Amino acid sequence: MTNPEQEAIRQNLWRLREAIDAALAASGRSRAGLLLCAASKTQPAETVAFAAGLDIDLFGENRVQELTAKTAAGAYGTKPCHLIGHLQTNKIRQAVGCGMIQSVDSLRLAGGIEAEAAKRGICQDILLEVKLGGEESKTGVPPGQLDRLLEAAAGCRHLRLRGLMTIPPPAESEGEARRWFAQARALFERLAPHCPETAVWDTLSMGMSGDFAAAIAEGATMVRVGTGIFGPRSYPPQKV
Ligand SMILES: *Cc1c(COP(=O)(O)O)cnc(C)c1O
Repeated sequence: MTNPEQEAIRQNLWRLREAIDAALAASGRSRAGLLLCAASKTQPAETVAFAAGLDIDLFGENRVQELTAKTAAGAYGTKPCHLIGHLQTNKIRQAVGCGMIQSVDSLRLAGGIEAEAAKRGICQDILLEVKLGGEESKTGVPPGQLDRLLEAAAGCRHLRLRGLMTIPPPAESEGEARRWFAQARALFERLAPHCPETAVWDTLSMGMSGDFAAAIAEGATMVRVGTGIFGPRSYPPQKV
C-alpha cells in the first residue's frame, strides 16, 4: 500500500526517468553511464526508505547529521549514500565511512579525511568539488587551485580519487548552463592524466532538478535530483 505522498514520488520519478532517458538518447548515451542520486535532504527516514525501493541508484545528503541518522534507521536499504553538502572539519569523523564524500574542497579537509580513514584502516572515496562561478557559491575549490588539491589528495593513501562534483551558478538559459557544465567536463578530462594509479577517475557529478538535461548533454556521469523526485522541500536547506 502506498500513501498519496509515496504515489507522488513514484510518479515524479517516472517522469524524471523519462526526461533523463530522453537527454541520454539525445547525446547518444546509454543508461549505463549515468547514476541517479536522489538528494534526500530534509526528507524523513520513512520517505527515504520508500524511495530506496524505487529506481534510484544512490542517495545524497547535505548534512552529516541527516546522513548518520538515516543510516542508523536503515533508510537507504542496500543503496549507498554520499555526502554532497559542505563538510565542516569538526564533522569529518562522522562522515568518513559513507559511500563517497563529494564535497572535498580544501587541503585541510582532504588531510582530515585521510587521517580519519587511516585511523580506521579504510579507503574513502572522494570527489573534489570545483567552484566555477567565482564568488557566487561559497563552497568548492576555484579551478586555479584544483591541481594543487589533486596533488595533495593523490599523496593520501586512504583517499580514492573518483572525480569532480560541481554546482554551477544559476544560468539564464540552457546554453549558459551547458557552458558551465562543459567547463567542468574539460577540467575532469584535463586532470585525469594527473591522477595517481590508485584513483578511479570515473565520476563527474553535476546537474540537479532544473538543469540535469544540460549536465547530461555535457557528460555528467551522475545527476543529483531532489525536488524533481520528492517535490518541493518543506523547509529550505540549511545554509552552511
Ligand atoms: C539539494 C541539492 C541537490 C538537488 O537539488 P534539487 O534542485 O532539489 O534537485 C543537488 N546537489 C546538492 C549539493 C544539493 O544540496
